[in-house]
Amino acid sequence: MSQLSQPFITKFPTDSSYILTQRQTPEYMGANVHPEIFPDAQNIWINDSLWEFLQLEFPKDSPDFPAAQNLPKHIQPYATAYAGHQFGNWAGQLGDGRAIYAGEIIAKDGEAYELQWKGVGATPYSRFADGRAVLRSSIRECLMSEAMFHLGVPTTRCLSLALTGENVLRDIMYDGHPAYEKGAAVVRVAPSFLRFGHFELLAARNQESLLQKLADDTIERYFPEITNRNSTNNPYLALFKAIVEASVEMLVGWYRVGFTHGVMNTDNCSILGLTIDYGPYGMLEEYNLNYTPNTTDLPGRRYAFGRQAEMMQWNLLQLANAFVLLTKEGQELEKLLDYFGKLFWERFDEMMVQKFGLDSVLSNDAEWVKNWQNMMSENQLDFTLFFKALEDWREENSSYEAFPVASISYLPENLINKNQIHDFLVSYMDRLNSNKISLKESLTMMRKNNPWFVLRNYQLFECAKELEAGSDASFKELMKALERPYDKPDPHLTLKRPAKYSDTPGCSMLSCSS
Ligand code: AMP
Ligand code: MG
Repeated sequence: MSQLSQPFITKFPTDSSYILTQRQTPEYMGANVHPEIFPDAQNIWINDSLWEFLQLEFPKDSPDFPAAQNLPKHIQPYATAYAGHQFGNWAGQLGDGRAIYAGEIIAKDGEAYELQWKGVGATPYSRFADGRAVLRSSIRECLMSEAMFHLGVPTTRCLSLALTGENVLRDIMYDGHPAYEKGAAVVRVAPSFLRFGHFELLAARNQESLLQKLADDTIERYFPEITNRNSTNNPYLALFKAIVEASVEMLVGWYRVGFTHGVMNTDNCSILGLTIDYGPYGMLEEYNLNYTPNTTDLPGRRYAFGRQAEMMQWNLLQLANAFVLLTKEGQELEKLLDYFGKLFWERFDEMMVQKFGLDSVLSNDAEWVKNWQNMMSENQLDFTLFFKALEDWREENSSYEAFPVASISYLPENLINKNQIHDFLVSYMDRLNSNKISLKESLTMMRKNNPWFVLRNYQLFECAKELEAGSDASFKELMKALERPYDKPDPHLTLKRPAKYSDTPGCSMLSCSS
């Protein structure tokens, strides 16, 4: 058993007044907060293996910890202040508006993990909102963060999902028709919840020594190899480089599985390159580089699937602007921004050839991938199902005509350009000819990189409706499937999105209302 501790509040200036009034806290980096009292809280789900890994000191069957109730005195919960660029504009101080830190704990691997409740009440950073979360959005955060973990994409995790027993008012469509929904809370876990915005806030306030302290602490805790590097290196440049590299790995993971975050503002970007703040996200279904699941993002499609790498580079530029204060080396930071682009495309190409079961990247592969993208989007082929079909097609050594286009396309069959698909398959077989690995090795590589099961928004939509009505059968089924995404689940879980969900609000498109 380990005890939770809150080193943040002793290391960094924290307002310990426990006053909840929403406010600017210019001299502080955080504020102590008491979670709300929810006498009717009830657990829905506990992540047993994560609970044991964290060696938590609380009984698992009580909602006390999942809903932040009856906390022992040694827990002094707090929220932190951060800033951010939202949809390209500086937003000033934001902060944990409905996330409250329980603190950190040493887990079985000897490492420290931070724990946060999300949805247990307002903080000084709630900016006129209520600090609550609804069941619908908490299910989405819970299931998708676990799904990403099992897919092998860097992410924060979910420890528990609980009903608060309280109803919460939300206007889902932002059309003046608010309705009550069930309130819920998740506990989420990560080595760190630090965001780009934490650094941006201190830089904007010109708090150079605090900024340096935060950077030193980040290096010491999460990038200790930097401290050991030879002393002529600028440790803050090394830190920025490490953040660039972690962000690339996360992005490449997103592109491998088709994840579209939907709100890649700098306050939603993790310093450790973890996928964080699951809101109006979506898994790519019909291939479309312009796909965005977020209604708020629709006008400009700033955070569309195909723009995520470019947007991360833009976000890193904002972080670099904060880091100039530390490194005093603007030009070196600029070079690291270029390095992001170079590294991303290198890693992206490597990832794509693995999805196709190829042994190495060839110089003309980028063009070949572009052709494939056109073929995919023009025929509205399902991103996930396409690769599984390709594996089966190769294994069965089938004819070109036998490639199952109708079951993986969202177009009516008469509009599918079968010649284009045929041509692509011919070029693929051609490309495979230069492969130096066996069919078996190639298929093994594909199966490791192409999931069978991705959590689709329509499945989450149905699951939320059922849980609202009191049945957790679908939640349990999805959780089981997402724990083994590379194994073939029950066939009904791998179908392309049924047509009736293509225009369903809260399913095909999501708002930020959560
Ligand atoms: P997001 O775009 O969802 O990451 O949220 C942006 C900011 O709004 C963050 O500072 C959140 O903490 C805050 N926020 C979002 N929803 C709520 C809510 N229901 N109550 C309080 N703060 C919120
Ligand atoms: Mg956020």
